[in-house]
Parts: sequence; C-alpha cells; structure tokens
Amino acid sequence: MSGHLAVIGLGPGDPRYLTAEAADALAEAQALYGYGLYLDRVPARAGQSRHPSDNREEAARAGEALRHAAQGGRVAVVSGGDPGVFAMAAAICEQIETGPAAWRALDVTVVPGITAMLAVAARIGAPLGHDFCALSLSDNLKPWPLIERRLDAAAEAGFVIALYNPVSHARPWQFGSAVERLRRHLPATTPVVFGRAVGRRDERVDITSLGAAGAALVDMATLVIVGTRETRVIARPGRPALVYTPRAAAEVSA
Ligand code: SAH
Repeated sequence: MSGHLAVIGLGPGDPRYLTAEAADALAEAQALYGYGLYLDRVPARAGQSRHPSDNREEAARAGEALRHAAQGGRVAVVSGGDPGVFAMAAAICEQIETGPAAWRALDVTVVPGITAMLAVAARIGAPLGHDFCALSLSDNLKPWPLIERRLDAAAEAGFVIALYNPVSHARPWQFGSAVERLRRHLPATTPVVFGRAVGRRDERVDITSLGAAGAALVDMATLVIVGTRETRVIARPGRPALVYTPRAAAEVSA
C-alpha cells in the first residue's frame, strides 16, 4: 500500500485565505500533524486523528509524519502561511533526502498557502511592488553573522526586505540589532511596516520609519517589511496611508 503525504499551507489565519485546494487536502487526510496552534485552526473531522507537537520540533514532526505515511496512511502536515516559506515543506524534504528509501517512494504533495509577507503587503498597498527578498531573523539554524551579511547585501542592492521571525522569547535582541545594521545603509526616513497577526482577530498594522522602528513593535506573530529609498507613503484624508514601492528603479539605490 503506497502512502501519501500532503504538506498544506493554511494561510495567515483568516479562514477565507485557505485555498480550495488546501480545504480539499485537509478533508482527505486520515491523520493531521502540525504545531498545535496551527492544528487548532483546522475544524475537527470524524475519523481523522490529530498529532500536535511543539513549534520547535519540526524535524521530529516531519519524521513521524513520514513514518506514518510510509505505513500506508493518508497524512497531512500543516503549516501557517505557505508550507514552503520557513516552514514544514523543507523540513520534510530534509528528512526524505536522508531517511529510508521507502520515504523517497511516497506520493508527496505540497499545497501552497498565502504567506505572511503577501497578506501584510496587501493590507497597506504595494510595498513589494519592486524587487524584494525575504529573510528569517531566526539564528536557530544559521549563524548571526550570516544574517548580518545578508541584511547588508539586501539593503545595499536596493531590495525591499520582508523579515520573518523578528523576535522570540529565546531571541530578544536580534530585531534591534538588525535595525541598527540596516540604518548603516538606509536613511532613517525609510518606510517600515509592522504587520501583526494579520488575518486574525488581534490583527494590527503599523507604518513607521527605520529611524523610529524598535523592538517594542514586534512579537513572534509580526512580519516586518523594510522599504527602500524609493518606497513611498501616501497620506490620505480620513483613510489609512498607502505604502508602495514603485515598479521602476533607475540605479542601485544604496
Ligand atoms: N510559513 C509561514 C512563516 C513561518 S515563520 C508563512 O508562510 O507565513 C513564522 C513567522 O511568520 C512569524 O514570526 C511572523 O514573522 C510571520 N507570520 C506568520 N503568520 C503571520 C501573520 N498572520 N501575521 C504576520 N506575520 C505572520
């Protein structure tokens, strides 16, 4: 019996952001694996088993799900946002590459979801309208000096930068340090967007500048978008400002 493993993106939180493909894949699963808070977003279904785990146990969770699927099960692993962006799809691939041969014979499907940077960007205009990149500020799986090098390179090359994982209980100083690093390359007036818990009840979106950006505005559910020299803020009477990065750029801007 050949098992099946689906790695499913749930989107940022609002059920309307769950794609029809993801809803179908969730309905077809016999067993659901994932971080407990993400699994809580999936409505209970008769006959479906649930296997919640801690946020940091990605490799172990991937292994368990693969073992289950290799026994012939129809298994789904869920991620918030998109499963391929700092999430379970890569963790599953890492296990498949180094694990038993049977795991490479499995039917594996990755079902995309709306990632946090797209949900945040859509709330305030078009900050990702020109070239951009995404960085995780977590130094759990890479050394901090590498993150600094990438921040330098991205800012120097004029990319808008989406920052995932800006802070956690175990990583309190990294965001402040990243902001200081970016100030070496970009003016204090550079627009910065903080999108917190977008698509959830406690959503909050703030627009500030690189000069005023600080750790007080971030938590684990915040996605930060740092603009470029071209990024603009359009003030509007009685309406929230629009932040956008024009589609054209003349030269390397840093
Ligand atoms: N796979 C996820 C990202 C996982 S990394 C995705 O594609 O969105 C976790 C980080 O994603 C958080 O620290 C935060 O930076 C961001 N994030 C996830 N959900 C979010 C939301 N609803 N609003 C804002 N940021 C979010």
